[in-house]
Amino acid sequence: MRRRLAAGNWKMNGTGAALSELDTLTATHPSPTVDILICPPATLIHRAGQAVQGSGVAIGGQDCHAEVSGAHTGDLSAEMLKDAGATSVIVGHSERREDHGEKDDDIRAKARAAMNAGLTAIICVGESLEQREAANTLDIIGGQLSGSIPDLATGENLVLAYEPIWAIGTGKVPTLEEIGEVHDFIRARLERRFGEGVGRSVRLLYGGSVKPDNAAEIFGVSNVDGALVGGASLKARDFSGIISALEQA
Ligand code: PEP
Repeated sequence: MRRRLAAGNWKMNGTGAALSELDTLTATHPSPTVDILICPPATLIHRAGQAVQGSGVAIGGQDCHAEVSGAHTGDLSAEMLKDAGATSVIVGHSERREDHGEKDDDIRAKARAAMNAGLTAIICVGESLEQREAANTLDIIGGQLSGSIPDLATGENLVLAYEPIWAIGTGKVPTLEEIGEVHDFIRARLERRFGEGVGRSVRLLYGGSVKPDNAAEIFGVSNVDGALVGGASLKARDFSGIISALEQA
């Protein structure tokens, strides 16, 4: 049985004042029946970890370098994130792929580094609108899965997030059938590559304009084990609505 996961990605939002949202979140969900993860900017990881201590909320990073240490000004290694209090790290978000030219090979190396450091890698995949309209979605996702998941993946150290690029921050959401088709496809690919045991234990998140009012129907789709949430994770009240929908799914 896969434990469901509500993950929030704060992106480049939040200074110390935003930590009060975590106080609200932990107070609203004192004994959550799903996993809750918040990925704040790296500057807040340590303080966020302290703010959620003893609660059911975990803290993650938004990216990591593929190497353990070295001359990489401005970068952070997976070990550093773990040391600061992170349990997971997002890799291959479409904004990293776009803004920093990250390719599947880079993402695989980052995910491997995260796993070697004892973090869970949340690998993001997703198609552009152009690719969907050209009916290339499954080909694109299949290529991203083969290229970006390291061989050492297990149900504990890997989470997959399907995030159609055109749905991120736009208010547009694929139909439930479209989400189900991609999630079933990802599950089948994972089972084929890693065997049924591992393939069935990896959690699959949907991401892209998930809000409290559309979360319940999305969580009813087969092979959707939770969500990766951007905008609606910034306010505890909104994210809490999504967590409650996941708890009731
Ligand atoms: C994201 O960036 O991962 C995301 C899903 O954003 P939003 O929820 O704002 O669409």
